[in-house]
Amino acid sequence: MLFLNHFATCYLKFANRPRCPLAGTGRPGYDCGLSTEAMISMDKMLSVWKTAPKEGFELKEAPVPKIKDNEVLVKVKATSICGTDMHIYGWDEWAQNRIGKNLPYIFGHEVAGEVVETGKAVSGIAVGDHVSAETHLSCGYCYQCRTGNEHICQNVKILGVDINGAFAEYLALPYRNAWVNDRNIPHWVATAQEPLGNAVHTVFDGEVAGKVVTIFGMGPIGVCAVALCKAAGAEKVIAIDHHAGRLKFGKEFGADLTISSSDGGDVRKQIMDATNGLGADVFLEMAGAPAAMNDGLATLRAGGRASILGVFPKSFEVDVTNHIVFKGIRLTGINGRKMFDTWYKTRSFLRSGKINLEKLVTHRFKLAEIGKGFDVLRKKEGMKVVLEP
Ligand code: ZN
Repeated sequence: MLFLNHFATCYLKFANRPRCPLAGTGRPGYDCGLSTEAMISMDKMLSVWKTAPKEGFELKEAPVPKIKDNEVLVKVKATSICGTDMHIYGWDEWAQNRIGKNLPYIFGHEVAGEVVETGKAVSGIAVGDHVSAETHLSCGYCYQCRTGNEHICQNVKILGVDINGAFAEYLALPYRNAWVNDRNIPHWVATAQEPLGNAVHTVFDGEVAGKVVTIFGMGPIGVCAVALCKAAGAEKVIAIDHHAGRLKFGKEFGADLTISSSDGGDVRKQIMDATNGLGADVFLEMAGAPAAMNDGLATLRAGGRASILGVFPKSFEVDVTNHIVFKGIRLTGINGRKMFDTWYKTRSFLRSGKINLEKLVTHRFKLAEIGKGFDVLRKKEGMKVVLEP
């Protein structure tokens, strides 16, 4: 079917178009004078779909999206796999509840690419600009949007979750959600800005300079948070995870102390010992694990700050009286990135050279090899897996 489509498309279009200079580089067996890239750019693209309510994905050819007046068409140069995509791939309870009604659709949302077309109502962005996507598509008219909190819009639609996403060769994106990247950042690095943005939002929810910070969960966002805390002058960063490989990353990104929550040691005692019995000034929850939440709160000093980014699989018990109320702590939920304060801060950290995002990317595959990427992350063998169409 793919072959027939390809042949038909090429046959019909070939007569009226100049021979592509990339001719001969198309998919093996499909070569007909136009490269796959040139051919697909006409109307079809490779894309990764969630079609069935079960574990897995489907690689399919799909029409290149037609943009609306307020959208730009982005030629995807790099996209990366997020924890959210793992939920969607694995089809867990969260995915079933949130996404069940959206099937079939294209998932994926971390992206970097080049603008190839702009709608009539677009301003401030031009063809050729390198962009990433702010993935929260806000309505612009609800209470939150009109009071400076677009990131928690009542009517938010999330790219690749509620609507077609970025695991594809092209993406239609409202121009207000397109963030123009510095051209010197390679696309395969720029795609990892979104998780860095989550870390920026969480870390700078309060002061970290001169503070002792505990960070639970050394996934990509956690290790970015370690680096940001150190860059911003934290006195000591304590990284906690149950996976030895991930703790090693935490160390590489600058953690002063790493604590394993799986080796039978007492996590709380180790944190209290490392803080002279006072507890940490700041606790960042990036694991989405009940034990992490309770250990983090128990080892936060009175008057400290807890910023919670983790998404927990289900409800659980917290000692609110002793760990929150009587200690007089401040606790905040963190959702996405502040629009667009977080993006400006993220850009500044990248420009300063204090955050090395390249180190975060452990694997690069072709988009068609996305299955390998899911395997790597399922086995927790990598940090950020980047896919290049
Ligand atoms: Zn809104």
